[in-house]
Amino acid sequence: MSDCIFCKIARGEIPAKVVRKSPDAVAFHDLTPQAPVHVLVIPTKHFAAVRDAAGVADSEAALGKLLVFAAEVATELGLDQGGYRIVTNTGPDAGQSVHHLHLHLLGGRRLGWPPG
Ligand code: AMP
Repeated sequence: MSDCIFCKIARGEIPAKVVRKSPDAVAFHDLTPQAPVHVLVIPTKHFAAVRDAAGVADSEAALGKLLVFAAEVATELGLDQGGYRIVTNTGPDAGQSVHHLHLHLLGGRRLGWPPG
């Protein structure tokens, strides 16, 4: 989508601190980190949120690849031993503010549960 900020990051049109990139996904540091490691993992194909992937051709494969990509990024960032959390906010109750599906990869400190 032309006016989507994460699509622009995926296309390299606006700067981001990119950790890893593939033809299908990009991982980059969050602008407002909530943990010592806070990386966003996005598909290059635009879905507004995870609910919008339901029923879309090949979305199961795309989301599966995205999760594996996020796990590879976590390994690359040294999070395997301490552990980490992957979460995706969907809609207003979850506080979604950017409407391009993204996984938050959080780690580097003990994370509270349940989340606020
Ligand atoms: P959410 O609230 O789940 O939609 O998460 C959106 C996240 O995107 C927030 O954690 C923001 O800090 C982050 N964010 C927004 N714009 C940018 C940007 N240009 N580069 C990196 N992170 C961003």
